[in-house]
Amino acid sequence: MKLYEIGEFGLIKKISRTPKRKEVFVGIGDDAAVIKVGEEFILYTTDMMVEGDHFRTEWHPPEKIGRKAMASNISDIAAMGGMPEYALVSIALRSDMEVEFVESLYKGMYDVADRYGVDIIGGDTTHGSLMVINVAVTGRTDKGHLTLRSGAKTGDYILVSAPLGGSRAGLELLKRGYKEPKAPIEKHLDPGCRMDIARDVALFASAMIDVSDGLASEVRHICEESGIGAIIERERIPLDRETMKAGKILDMDPYDFALHGGEDYELLFTVPEENLNKVRRYGTVVGRIVDKDMGVRIENGEIMDLKGGYEHFIE
Ligand code: ADP
Ligand code: MG
Repeated sequence: MKLYEIGEFGLIKKISRTPKRKEVFVGIGDDAAVIKVGEEFILYTTDMMVEGDHFRTEWHPPEKIGRKAMASNISDIAAMGGMPEYALVSIALRSDMEVEFVESLYKGMYDVADRYGVDIIGGDTTHGSLMVINVAVTGRTDKGHLTLRSGAKTGDYILVSAPLGGSRAGLELLKRGYKEPKAPIEKHLDPGCRMDIARDVALFASAMIDVSDGLASEVRHICEESGIGAIIERERIPLDRETMKAGKILDMDPYDFALHGGEDYELLFTVPEENLNKVRRYGTVVGRIVDKDMGVRIENGEIMDLKGGYEHFIE
């Protein structure tokens, strides 16, 4: 069987085992693993970027590659309602690379790490025929802030923290040699993360996930882990003007960027009706959680299954 037949998530299911240590509160299947230590929850996450696939040195300055590598990991800690603490950074480098390139890469990582109080405390360095950067980040949270993918309930509202699709729009522009509109290109190169609101949202959200693989995929993850269904209203998905402009220039549907693109590193969260007013300022309602037997659907005049999203080995 080939990997493209089962995809990234099919593969992860195959290789997953139930953890043996009793302190593992959440293993594989959320944005970060959760280990219960006394009254606290320690969070562990890791994300890898491969040259040519996740970034291209022709258009991605080293400092921004570093920023994105660090931010994408901190984003997973944010999605758990956690505070990030430590990072381990492993890099494979080509021997003919400039030392200054690697220094800039680290400047980017340190800048983002410093902003969120993260120390880089170790890692590994090796050579390779392609550059690979792997960052692992640990964090910490408490019961009140811990927000899993599995907590959504029927009737909850589904919100996203900001307009989506910018990163994918930027990638498509770069692939075709466009230098404008600038905002989506910048969103792709330096997406940041939503630590600024995550802890506040976490107090009221029933479930949360970061948007790394597109809205469609993230909604399905929440539904799968929570054992419920969802209906997304396509016209409520927020898109900014520059992303819509990119869609026009490229003759592509900007809603597809939001639904199936990914790498926006915004937050998608669910809240019970009674908490909606407390989180309205942090996001836009895009749909509701429904019973499992109603499926995971999108309404766009007609109602259809919510398919797609970025998945390694398949696209
Ligand atoms: P995210 O997009 O939040 O980084 P992923 O979709 O990459 O999460 O991963 C989904 C889940 O599978 C996470 O809990 C992650 O830790 C786990 N996972 C991914 N790849 C592996 C692997 N090779 N071995 C074990 N667990 C993995
Ligand atoms: Mg994530």
